[in-house]
Amino acid sequence: MARTKGLMEAVEGIIYPYALDKGGLIVGAVDAPRSEGYYCIGCGERMVLRRGEIKRPYFAHYTENPNCKPETVLHKMAKDNIQEGIDTASSYNLKYPFTWRCPVCNQEHKGNLARSTREVRTEVSLDGVRPDILLSSMKGKPLVAIEVVVTHSPEKEAIEAYKRLKLPVLLIRPEWEELEQLKTGLGYVEALQAPCRAKRCNKCNRILGHTQISSVNTHRCWKCGKAMRVLWPGDYDPYGRRERSKSMIGPASMVGVKLRMARSKKDKRWYAMHICPYCGKPQGDPYIYTFDFIEDMINNTKPDRTVEFYYCERCDAWLEKKRAANSMTAQKPLNIPPGKKGASNEQNS
Ligand SMILES: [Zn+2]
Ligand SMILES: [Zn+2]
Ligand SMILES: [Zn+2]
Ligand SMILES: [Zn+2]
Repeated sequence: MARTKGLMEAVEGIIYPYALDKGGLIVGAVDAPRSEGYYCIGCGERMVLRRGEIKRPYFAHYTENPNCKPETVLHKMAKDNIQEGIDTASSYNLKYPFTWRCPVCNQEHKGNLARSTREVRTEVSLDGVRPDILLSSMKGKPLVAIEVVVTHSPEKEAIEAYKRLKLPVLLIRPEWEELEQLKTGLGYVEALQAPCRAKRCNKCNRILGHTQISSVNTHRCWKCGKAMRVLWPGDYDPYGRRERSKSMIGPASMVGVKLRMARSKKDKRWYAMHICPYCGKPQGDPYIYTFDFIEDMINNTKPDRTVEFYYCERCDAWLEKKRAANSMTAQKPLNIPPGKKGASNEQNS
């Protein structure tokens, strides 16, 4: 089907993978019954179904119609499928997703157009522009416009009008072979005036990076000999800072690790040092992260508690991602007696 265009000109003018049946419903050539009469989606004239052994099935005009425009048919079908897709997803409580690269933060964002509280309309005139599809609230407030771009991008006037209306616009460039997919989602779109979804620091408004903190229960306290949780060294320091600052004390406690600011006698620096929850003795990094310990972790151990965060490098601030709440179940569990697993270590001291 990717070669539909080249094929159709060479063999017999315009051919389409879809047509209308007698009842006005769109049917695909792949599963259309042979005996029925079919009509062109673009010009309404009679079509014949061609289904051979070699080529993909298709519809051709009964009598060649040079005025019929494949672009029109593609545009109409894309529009119909999107409208149907959003309506169906909305009424079955499903998502109708789309993805765009945000010009504000240069990250990819995902959206969902299906809501039971929305109306999907075509042929609506707004102030100076007629979107192909308009989603509005039940009270008629325009929320998102969709432009199906087949031949040319929206006119400058239309873009200006959308700007004036402060209306987000999703531009979709459909292909014949992607028409079916439009019933379940828009896929990748270009978005104009779509609000940036990036999480920002509430102190400095900077776009936050993603990071995570994990722990393992395989270190033994040098004083009391009990197994205690320590930070998994692989991921808590994604920005290459050597020191663990005070800001990590809270996030570490969420993976069962106790930290306290302490001074290392050996290398004469202050950092958030591991504290044994049973006897309270600090454990310096050189003592915990020995070569053997790290090698054992890389080869034999997986962190069994992980919490995901946003992190602001400028403010050294951590913000928990709410959805990460279940992430510890996704990790491979360690062989820890069930009683100890979820309990706070301090309680056992
Ligand atoms: Zn036609
Ligand atoms: Zn963004
Ligand atoms: Zn900040
Ligand atoms: Zn101890």
